[in-house]
Amino acid sequence: MRLDYRQALERARTRLGGPQGRLEAELLLAHVLQRPRSHVLAWPEAVLDGEAAARFERLVERRAAGVPMAYLLGEREFWSLRLEVTPDTLIPRPETELLVERALVHLPADHDLRVVDAGTGSGAIALALAHERPRAFVLGVDRCPRALAVAARNRDRLGLVNARFLQGDWLTALRPECLDLVAANPPYVAARDPHLTQGDPAWEPRSALVAGDDGLAALRRLLPQAAACLRPGGWLLVEHGWDQAAAVAELLHRAGLGCVRLHHDLAGRPRVTEARRP
Ligand code: GLN
Repeated sequence: MRLDYRQALERARTRLGGPQGRLEAELLLAHVLQRPRSHVLAWPEAVLDGEAAARFERLVERRAAGVPMAYLLGEREFWSLRLEVTPDTLIPRPETELLVERALVHLPADHDLRVVDAGTGSGAIALALAHERPRAFVLGVDRCPRALAVAARNRDRLGLVNARFLQGDWLTALRPECLDLVAANPPYVAARDPHLTQGDPAWEPRSALVAGDDGLAALRRLLPQAAACLRPGGWLLVEHGWDQAAAVAELLHRAGLGCVRLHHDLAGRPRVTEARRP
């Protein structure tokens, strides 16, 4: 069947449904054609060749089955950086930009600083910080070699020579008191949270999302390690669930950190806590 862009988009919109169906169809078609979205909007009568039509149809079917848009497109924008993402990495979230924003407050641009992103995944936080602070050396640590390969490709494509990636079990490989700042978006969802069965999280690596029965298992390990790796005066910034702020504050105090301060995301939910080593 010969389809022009308009007809292909209309069929896909009907198949995908929902308020996002039209936009998603446009993004998938643009992806198949390797053109910007404006191209598919500007040429509604252009005809799709058979191979492109078949590839588009396959993507639409996978999207209809629930596969996240970011995995179908192979990328997601974070902090205005275009990042490759794969099913081996969490899909960077807009609320995590709050963590980057707060970290930058504590990273003066005119100093040579040592920064770690613990559980870096696609490298989103590490690369955003490396991009904003060319004089900082940013190390992204992750347990998963396949995620680290994605992070390294993102670094290379963005040309951020001040970022490096290392396989590790949180911060166990690092020396004490050597860091100016630790940032982390660890897994913090409780194992039986129904949120895990819906939308994008159902397709993301469980190891990037789930941390024990109460969602705090990773934070319990990571926060004391991070505290030990900070130099006196260094900062820790961590993302957590909206209902975990009190538990995180308690863990931070127990790890000897002070200046504990909670920040809310754009939806008004508690999302990031920062703390300082005295
Ligand atoms: N914010 C993510 C979610 O709600 C969880 C990310 C994480 O566990 N670090 O799906």
